[in-house]
Amino acid sequence: MALREILKYPHPILRKKAEPVTEFGQALKELIYDMAETMYAAPGVGLAANQIGILQQIVVIDVSPRDDKTKLIPLINPVILAGEGSDVSEEGCLSVVDYAADVKRFTHISIEARDPEGRKIAFEADGWFARDIQHEVDHLDGKLFIDRISSLKRSLYKKKRRKQLKEEQADFDD
Ligand SMILES: [Zn+2]
Repeated sequence: MALREILKYPHPILRKKAEPVTEFGQALKELIYDMAETMYAAPGVGLAANQIGILQQIVVIDVSPRDDKTKLIPLINPVILAGEGSDVSEEGCLSVVDYAADVKRFTHISIEARDPEGRKIAFEADGWFARDIQHEVDHLDGKLFIDRISSLKRSLYKKKRRKQLKEEQADFDD
């Protein structure tokens, strides 16, 4: 197992669409272990493969800090088939440094995916679990939660991030 580097906004890979996984072998399992280790170390409640620079449709989720019904759940090629209800709640992201904002999501979703063995799975999710899945599936489409907030909030965040990167660059040059 190994910790992977989490790419940060505005890294261009975060904007690319991930491809479906077609090989369900040992390499995929090792990648899932690495993703889980990286997520727990961060610490976070979800991670998409795009965030470690791999454009494959793989996410790991564990919302047990917020909802103790769940544990580590890897989803391969996840598709949200349907959603209903809506709820606004604060979200953050391991790739969006020092920022959180209210995001509207479905409260209830139906999902289809593959497990790490390649078997088809289908289930329903609610609450934080549903929110987390929607957030991670967005990553696989090259989307970030800041795409779902007002353009004013987004431009304020971009400004803050630009300043932060400039300061990091200045530190680096010293
Ligand atoms: Zn995220």
